[in-house]
Amino acid sequence: MTVAMTGAETGAERGAATGSSGAAGYADVDLHIAGRWRGGAGDERRPVLNPATGETIGHHAVAARDDLDAALAAAERGFAAWRRVSPIERSKVLRRAADLLRERAEAIARTMTLEQGKPLAEARLEVQVAADVTDWFAEEGKRTYGRVIPARQDGVMQIVLREPIGPVACFTPWNFPLNQAVRKVAAALCTGCSVILKGPEDTPASCAELVRAYLDAGLPGDALSLVYGDPAAISGYLIPHPVVRKISFTGSTAVGKELAALAGRHMKRVTMELGGHAPAIVFEDADVEKAVSVLGANKFRNAGQVCVAPTRFLVHESVFDRFLDGFVALAEGLTVGDGLDPATKMGPLIHGRRLEAMESLVADATAAGATVRTGGKRIGNRGNFFEPTVLTDVPLSARLMNEEPFGPVAAVQRFSDDEAALAEANRLPYGLAAYAYTRSAERAARAAARIESGMLGINHHGLAVPETPFGGVKDSGYGSEGGTEALEGYLVTKFVSQAGA
Ligand code: NAD
Repeated sequence: MTVAMTGAETGAERGAATGSSGAAGYADVDLHIAGRWRGGAGDERRPVLNPATGETIGHHAVAARDDLDAALAAAERGFAAWRRVSPIERSKVLRRAADLLRERAEAIARTMTLEQGKPLAEARLEVQVAADVTDWFAEEGKRTYGRVIPARQDGVMQIVLREPIGPVACFTPWNFPLNQAVRKVAAALCTGCSVILKGPEDTPASCAELVRAYLDAGLPGDALSLVYGDPAAISGYLIPHPVVRKISFTGSTAVGKELAALAGRHMKRVTMELGGHAPAIVFEDADVEKAVSVLGANKFRNAGQVCVAPTRFLVHESVFDRFLDGFVALAEGLTVGDGLDPATKMGPLIHGRRLEAMESLVADATAAGATVRTGGKRIGNRGNFFEPTVLTDVPLSARLMNEEPFGPVAAVQRFSDDEAALAEANRLPYGLAAYAYTRSAERAARAAARIESGMLGINHHGLAVPETPFGGVKDSGYGSEGGTEALEGYLVTKFVSQAGA
């Protein structure tokens, strides 16, 4: 592993702030409510930190109760108006928003790297994907067809209408500040719903740029509000509120269960995209080199802070050493540093809590008998950098084999028979993503039939494109954030049976 710490890229040295205390190119972030960008009613602002330096680069506004009431009133008005805009016209707005995202990609990517830490190349890709997601929903929103059911009685028309469910409250995290939000916002808006988005406080500015692109594209201001603040206070107020008809949350399973329970008490529809602990099975007949490079790239992308990252590597004993050597070499070859440095392949973790979580997972695993093959420690004491880490012989009782690591720590385990690997893949209550590498069609088919997960990549990564379903089973949640399935979450069915007067 090479460490590229670019001292010249500190917030202080980058020059004058666009906000009160920020880095160049990083503006303070306001709320967007009822068509206006503004501070919160309580005038409170909280700092945003650069995870590569620990320095304050700007501030975000904090929503008070009055602001949430204003956002709710806007969402109610916005829904009444936006649902009456034809799907074709709604599609045009979304297509323009996609174009604006592409035009602004460089500036948005830099903002994202400053506040989130990921390498600039990954941030650029994320903006392009956000544009692609927007384009895809712009088209798919035109196809929310109903149907006509032949009636038993002459002269009766039986019609099934698909209607937007109503104002939606969306809660999105910091790991993909644009893409976690756009999958919800585009799907909701293309069906005619209005949205209150509670964006990620750790990475507020790039998410705000998504909202700005939609508004600049002609979206009515009441149709999309953006708030930041105390997540639990905001969700606790919005979810039970009668104006809100649907909740969509991406985050941890623990928080998701609380929010789903609250939504259930108020009979609100819910989409939950929660945690995972993805098994990656490398069978004895796998293309081992391909497995190393594809799984390795996806393990350490975004510093491992990806819900579909492979995390439990289950490798057949006959190819174990070859896989492990390659995987360790890949981890050691990664340049870790500030995402603004073009040499960087892996950036910092988002905040100190993630660093502590990595240290504690590694300490717990080694105390239980695991071997650290590479990494295992924080890098330096400035910024939230952690070494790409590979452990072997991790007992199943260790926390690492049970809790979502959500960081650059991989457990590589040996198996001798396929049944044991499939059983281990399904052992945990999670069921988001899974991966399998094999040259045997029979093994591939068995993995597809047996693995309990919402998504499965066989011999490649292949997940998370806009037109395919994206979501989990078991404790990883329910509902989908991609494909035509995503629209289902924002539509209700109305049956009309009409006879002549
Ligand atoms: P956290 O639970 O404090 O926050 C995760 C996200 O959930 C944040 O965006 C936060 O604003 C939001 N959140 C938390 N409590 C909420 C509430 N009561 N109401 C509404 N939103 C709420 O955790 P963290 O320390 O920032 O991240 C740690 C864990 O979060 C990870 O281990 C991972 O499991 C999970 N996470 C998952 C994803 C994902 O893509 N599924 C993304 C980010 C974090």
